[in-house]
Amino acid sequence: MSSCDKCSEPAAILIRYSGARLCKNHLCEFIVKRVKRELRKQVDIGRDERIAIAVSGGKDSTVAAFLVKEILGARRDMEFCAITIDEGIDGYRGSAITIVADNCRALDMEHIVVSFEEAYGFTMDQVAEAERNMSTCTYCGVMRRAALNRAAKTWEATRLATGLNLDDTAQSILMNISRGDVERLARLGPHRRCQPGLIPRIQPLRTIPESEVALYALAKGIRYHNLECPYASEALRNDYRAVVAQLEDKYPGTRHSMLKSFDEILDAIERVYPPANLRFCGCGEPTVSPSGMCKVCELVASLKQDRVS
Ligand code: SF4
Repeated sequence: MSSCDKCSEPAAILIRYSGARLCKNHLCEFIVKRVKRELRKQVDIGRDERIAIAVSGGKDSTVAAFLVKEILGARRDMEFCAITIDEGIDGYRGSAITIVADNCRALDMEHIVVSFEEAYGFTMDQVAEAERNMSTCTYCGVMRRAALNRAAKTWEATRLATGLNLDDTAQSILMNISRGDVERLARLGPHRRCQPGLIPRIQPLRTIPESEVALYALAKGIRYHNLECPYASEALRNDYRAVVAQLEDKYPGTRHSMLKSFDEILDAIERVYPPANLRFCGCGEPTVSPSGMCKVCELVASLKQDRVS
């Protein structure tokens, strides 16, 4: 490949959506610049912030933890912790937790692990074996979101950062539009308002393509967990991932255009779908359900029922 547009080093990547050729140092610089811009928009710099980062051990959340700490770590008004959810997936999550723990030591960051078994009395392997009418990933996603929110609240976090990258964001936009779920689209985040009982989520990597996140990890020698979850084939997102990848391949810049369109219409859709009035479930978590029972308690109750019958 030819040399970097900014120096004489060999280019490590051709960024098709912009036409730029960058060496690994200039790519890292370009990534940091965009993440800084997002953090400035999403975090109240100068106000005491406690930022919890949801770190599964995969490349995106691991790179998010390193970048958030690199960009904001020197500030005295900020504190950080990593939260890992152990879903109880044999041969998968255990090795990821070891890697996250090692990275947190290197980052001098507190590491909190919450298991589904402790929180709900079920491992994801047990859920996968149970009689159910939804995919394993649907249970896992609902239970993980609630467990992360609860752990972040317990740590008294003011923000909960996730590793959602540009590809994930474009897939989520397409998925919600395709299903006609505009209300869920309005909740996609990053969250601009605080709601009682919910720690607002921020997404520092939302403008960074997945391939650039991977190259950043490689260039910086960041170790991450690279195994695929044994239930990953059940995820509805897989179909949308393929569509977004095809569109991006044929029309470079599609993911950015989708994100830009979403950002432009967000105020309008939030006016139609303002944050719902939340009730509190008996478990202490907020819910929009008129019954007052949160989705996790509903799912756990149905699983326990199946166990009895
Ligand atoms: Fe959970 Fe599905 Fe992700 Fe596996 S692939 S961790 S089951 S959401």
